[in-house]
Amino acid sequence: MMGTLTIAGLGPGDAALITPEVSAALTEATDVVGYAPYVARVPSREGLRLHASDNRMELSRAGEALKLAAEGRRVVLVSSGDPGVFAMAAAVFEALEAAPEWQDISIRVLPGVTAMLAAAARAGAPLGHDFCAINLSDNLKPWPVIEKRLRLAVEADFAIAIYNPRSKSRPDGFARALDILKGAGCGERTIIFAHAVTTPKERIETLSLNQARAEMADMATLVIVGNSTTRRVGRWVYAPRRAS
Ligand code: SAH
Repeated sequence: MMGTLTIAGLGPGDAALITPEVSAALTEATDVVGYAPYVARVPSREGLRLHASDNRMELSRAGEALKLAAEGRRVVLVSSGDPGVFAMAAAVFEALEAAPEWQDISIRVLPGVTAMLAAAARAGAPLGHDFCAINLSDNLKPWPVIEKRLRLAVEADFAIAIYNPRSKSRPDGFARALDILKGAGCGERTIIFAHAVTTPKERIETLSLNQARAEMADMATLVIVGNSTTRRVGRWVYAPRRAS
């Protein structure tokens, strides 16, 4: 008999932000599959098999989860945040498209609190008006596409949430992104560096883009760039509901 595959988001870090629906799925699981640091966030219990894998193994990890489900297991594939935002859900459907024999597996996608929402809540309401989200990783996307999207996001006056701003293997992209934003006249805009939100290492820094340095971001940082009307009130940042 076919098993099931549940693709679940664990939220940004704090266990209080794991939805009851995801907790219930984890309670019923026979197998949990995912990137090792996320699997480590799942409470272990007798009989639960944990399958932790390395980073950047998305497609093979998705295949492993589908294969276990095809063998009759109740599999939960975990991502941080939301599984549909720069995470595993898309990789599963990519694997599924290539393997028709798995298309009868019963699949569910359970949402989670994505990093930009947790970060925005800490800062106030910087995503309170129109916004977009850009993944700065160029592992699977050519850099010129990233650059074009940044420029057009500025032109459209979106607030911009930036995921994966900077890593050891990609030390320069975020500096280039800051230069593009400054060059597009965004130097006075508000920028928020939200580091490890909802974890004990959380740190939120708000400054103007002119003062921002690339080293302020790492892989545990979600960056939000305000739009042209974003305002500060005391320690809070918000996007007014009325666009000019
Ligand atoms: N699926 C995840 C995103 C995965 S991409 C989600 O929906 O949140 C990984 C990127 O997410 C990190 O590089 C960082 O930019 C962001 N991120 C994830 N957790 C975070 C946290 N607790 N605090 C700040 N940023 C976080």
